[in-house]
Amino acid sequence: MEKVSKFLKIFYLAIPLAVLLLYLSLNYGSSFSKDFESTHYVLDTFVTVKIFDPNRNTEKDVSEVFSFLKRMEDVFNFYSTESELSKINEELKSRGFARLRSQEMREVAAKSLELAEMTGGAFDPTLGELTRLWAFDRGGRLPDRKEIDAALKNSGFEKISVSGNELKGSRGMTLDLGAIAKGFCLEKAAEILKEKGYRKFLINSVSTTIVYNTLDSKPVKVGIEHPRKRGLLAVVPVYGSAVLSTSADNQKFFEFAGKRYHHILDPRTGYPARGTASLTVAGSIDGATADALSTALFVMGPSRALRFAKNNGLKVILYTEEGKIFIYPQSNWIQIQER
Ligand code: AMP
Ligand code: MG
Repeated sequence: MEKVSKFLKIFYLAIPLAVLLLYLSLNYGSSFSKDFESTHYVLDTFVTVKIFDPNRNTEKDVSEVFSFLKRMEDVFNFYSTESELSKINEELKSRGFARLRSQEMREVAAKSLELAEMTGGAFDPTLGELTRLWAFDRGGRLPDRKEIDAALKNSGFEKISVSGNELKGSRGMTLDLGAIAKGFCLEKAAEILKEKGYRKFLINSVSTTIVYNTLDSKPVKVGIEHPRKRGLLAVVPVYGSAVLSTSADNQKFFEFAGKRYHHILDPRTGYPARGTASLTVAGSIDGATADALSTALFVMGPSRALRFAKNNGLKVILYTEEGKIFIYPQSNWIQIQER
């Protein structure tokens, strides 16, 4: 009798142990137990790096990525007087031309011109005087028409050219690379991880997301914030690799006399672009292109943006100021959360 109760005791003890082992074995190898994720505040935003196939060097590799992004602040920070961009802007202001010191700045300058041309100037890297006037980084202010006209006189991508280390512009012009630099830096970060042999990762900066996956057929889900409500507007399951970028009027804005004024400016008027509240562009494009295009397509307004996406093989999720959703192409590549 005593033998039987001893057996039962061992048997009952073994059950939770078996359940625990089963649980561990099911999760071993799944993304739940082995993904590596790290988030830091850098380039004026939260950046998350998630590695789905980590190894013993991953922590070191990811911190190398963040050191690189931190270094890029010295190049592209619009507000620090010490950055390369500020030095370029000082030279432009006084002489109308400037020396491009770093390889990264040369690449972004060339890419900016290419994208300004491609979008008919909806993306324009020369709006620095205008963005200073609106001061959205400090809560924003409503400039008067005269100030806006003066700032517009000092802008215009057609006035700049890049050759080698030199950028020619016009006196009084100020570059603002806020719509492209972050996407460019994230793309470089992705290159670092690819070189190190990672086959599945995500790099996300709130507005731009790079998904790289040559490892498996499982999708990486990317959420898009709703511009008017708490929660998500949509979820995009990304199969393979893609880059997504969102520009939205709820990121930096103020309201005055019942009207919303936000940080995405129409270079033709000098005022915040109207018609769109949130625009996400997705495709097999690089981070800099995605970042600049989300800004440009936002500026274009809904119908021009959808036509642009169609002509250039891009996917678009667009939420208008009136609360309508447009998706191109109209297929089930996306899960809409709220209507
Ligand atoms: P994003 O959030 O990527 O759409 O970029 C918006 C930022 O880019 C703004 O905060 C400005 O610094 C700058 N910007 C605003 N309007 C434009 C525009 N039409 N073209 C290029 N840069 C812009
Ligand atoms: Mg952008």
